[in-house]
Amino acid sequence: MGFLIGISGSIIVDQGGRFPGYKRAYVNNDYIESTALSGGVPFILPVLKDEEMIKAQAESIDGLILSGGQDVNPLLYGEEPTTKTGSPFLARDQSEQLLLKHVIDQGKPVLAICRGLQILNVAYGGTLYQDMSDIKEAFIKHDQYNNTSDPSHSIMIKDGTRLHDLYGNQALINSFHHQAIKDVAPGFEVSAWAKDGVIEAIEKQGDQFVVGVQWHPEMMAKQHISMLNLFKLFMEHVKQSAGKKVSI
Ligand code: MN
Repeated sequence: MGFLIGISGSIIVDQGGRFPGYKRAYVNNDYIESTALSGGVPFILPVLKDEEMIKAQAESIDGLILSGGQDVNPLLYGEEPTTKTGSPFLARDQSEQLLLKHVIDQGKPVLAICRGLQILNVAYGGTLYQDMSDIKEAFIKHDQYNNTSDPSHSIMIKDGTRLHDLYGNQALINSFHHQAIKDVAPGFEVSAWAKDGVIEAIEKQGDQFVVGVQWHPEMMAKQHISMLNLFKLFMEHVKQSAGKKVSI
C-alpha cells in the first residue's frame, strides 16, 4: 500500500471545442508525475463547499500538495483588490483554506507550491503583495514566462531550515509569479529569499512538515534531481507521519 497524496485541484472553463463554457476539475499533470516519481499515490482533490466533506478529504490522505493557480482574493487578507491583481476565485480560496486547516490539525505534512504558499500564508494570518511592482526593491525577473523546467534565478536559504538541510545556502529555481508574501503569518518563518529580498519559501515552526515554496518544483522534477528531492523529502515526512512501511 502506498501513501496517498492529495493534490488540491482547480476548475478550468472550456474556451472552445465542443462544450464552450463547460467546467472541468483538474490539476496540472506535472504534480501527478512528481508525486508518483517520489513514491506517493496521487489523488486530485476537487474544490468543495461543504466543510464536513472537506474534512473527509483531509482524513482520506496521508499528505497534501497545494497546487498553483489563481491569485488569492485580497479581501481574505484585508485589502481591496488593486488593478494589478488577478481574477478572484473565492470558492477555491475557501475550499483550500478549510482543507489546509484540517490537514494541519490532523498533523499531516503539507507541501504548498506557488499560489499554495500564498494561500498557506493568508490562511494563517499573513498578507501578500498584489503585484511585484508594489515591491520597490524587486529587480529580479520573477516571471520567466516559458521554458518551465529551466532554473531562472537563485535563492538564498536560511541556516537551520528544512530547505537548508536539503540544499545548503543556495539553490537555483524557476519563477512564475507576479505576487509575493508581504507579512509572514505568525508561527511561520521565512526559509528562502531571492537576491532582491522577495520571499521565496516559508516553513511552519515546530516538528510538522509544512513547507511553502514560491517556485514550481513540479515543473523541474523530471529534469533536475534537486527538485525531485524536495518531493522525496516531503514523502519521507509523509511516511513518518503515516507510520506506514515503504511499499515501493
Ligand atoms: Mn521568484
